[in-house]
Amino acid sequence: MGRTRIDGGTIIAYRDGAHHLLRDGVLVYEGNRIVHLGATYEGPAERSIDARGKLVLPGFVSTHAHVNVHEGSRLLTDVGRRDVMRSGFLNYTPNNGVAGPPYVAAANAVDSTRFGFAQLIRNGITTVMAFGGGAPDDGRTFASLAGESGIRVYYAPQANSAVNWFTPEGQMREHWDEARGIAELEAQEQFLEAHHNAHGGRLQGIVVVRNYALATVDLMRRGKAIADRMELPFTTHFCEQLFEFHRTVRDHGITPVQLMEREGLLGPKVILAHALYLAGHSYTTWTYSDDLEILGRTGAAVSHSPVVMLRRGHALEGFDKYLAQGVTMSMGTDVMPHDIIGEMRAGAMACKLIARNHEVGTSMDFYNAATLGGAKAFGREDIGRLAVGAKADILLMDFDNLQIGPVYDPIRSLVHLASPDLIETVICDGVTLMADGVLCGYDERAVVEGGKRSFQRVLDRFPQMHWSQRPVEEEYPLGIAPW
Ligand SMILES: [Zn+2]
Repeated sequence: MGRTRIDGGTIIAYRDGAHHLLRDGVLVYEGNRIVHLGATYEGPAERSIDARGKLVLPGFVSTHAHVNVHEGSRLLTDVGRRDVMRSGFLNYTPNNGVAGPPYVAAANAVDSTRFGFAQLIRNGITTVMAFGGGAPDDGRTFASLAGESGIRVYYAPQANSAVNWFTPEGQMREHWDEARGIAELEAQEQFLEAHHNAHGGRLQGIVVVRNYALATVDLMRRGKAIADRMELPFTTHFCEQLFEFHRTVRDHGITPVQLMEREGLLGPKVILAHALYLAGHSYTTWTYSDDLEILGRTGAAVSHSPVVMLRRGHALEGFDKYLAQGVTMSMGTDVMPHDIIGEMRAGAMACKLIARNHEVGTSMDFYNAATLGGAKAFGREDIGRLAVGAKADILLMDFDNLQIGPVYDPIRSLVHLASPDLIETVICDGVTLMADGVLCGYDERAVVEGGKRSFQRVLDRFPQMHWSQRPVEEEYPLGIAPW
């Protein structure tokens, strides 16, 4: 394949455990590896990319993302049920009846998933933990779409001991079925055996328990045992909702974090998605233990998705406190948009507001979370950084324009001024997935039309599939009056 040199850009280069600023430098990659970083390069190169006026940075790592069009969450901005306590997804994920599908099941899985992957690339995310999703075929369709995308994907079809469902009156209930959860976990293990390390190593396995609130301790133990045996990461949605915290306290007399520690479920490569409602969060009123100290000591990681939480009026309290206890903080883009720059910006502002302190939640803290933190969460040292020997996961961003203006500190400019449309080139595993703003592997217009088609199916079938049997406009009123 030969060597490619990227010349003249402002490079965020990694050395001695941290990102450093290399102005007007040269990065050289060959195959899927970075082979040189420095002020100059005298060796051979087959191809060169002029990066003058560009920021050259490692591909972002999103440790929690639902890879689809987000048909449900599009309906929910500013509205939705009060009784699910701001948990947006509980408006659309519960089944309609114990066995009935949720209304978002009307989506077209392939179109929806493809839209998600293409959007991730446009946002410069080259490694993702993908919560899917996909067709009901034990993950095969999703794995093939992950391969098609060209990015690094951590995935497995998920397992859980219970589902939420709505009665015909719209009351939310839980249906527990441990045998089914174990069967799902067995199917997941088979998927992992068959697909881990597929697509040239870009498809990585991860053990996925869908939601702590809907899993027995035994199911999580079984899942963690598979992860340990196969040396894979383990993830679950964790304490995204206030009631999970208090239910564990009521049932066990200890917090969810304490329970996870007691059961041996914490440790490196354990990724807790959200982890909002822990001891010390003001809503929990629980001051009797130090959950953050436990997370820091055990090496578990948190996937932080501030935007979706802030949109519903709640927040992790606070990012600086988690860091101070040594918790591995990573960023997740969760639901639409997969704008990890927006996540960093919103997270930084929320952190400062919650702490009443402008010196915390720094741009560098959040940039580290979106790169090195994500890598550490997966137990990797070859992604989330531009370093000799690391994977050639590289972004080029236009950093000489009216939006950015004069640059003093490029990471502060990135976090507080930039938008994802300034990302021009995305390289993952040495393969160019977007060049000069054009996706290489997708017909972007067709992907957008597919996403719209999938959403329209959900709208069209809403009265038949939603428990209320009402038109969508009545259940989720528009904020703007029709003409
Ligand atoms: Zn999620």
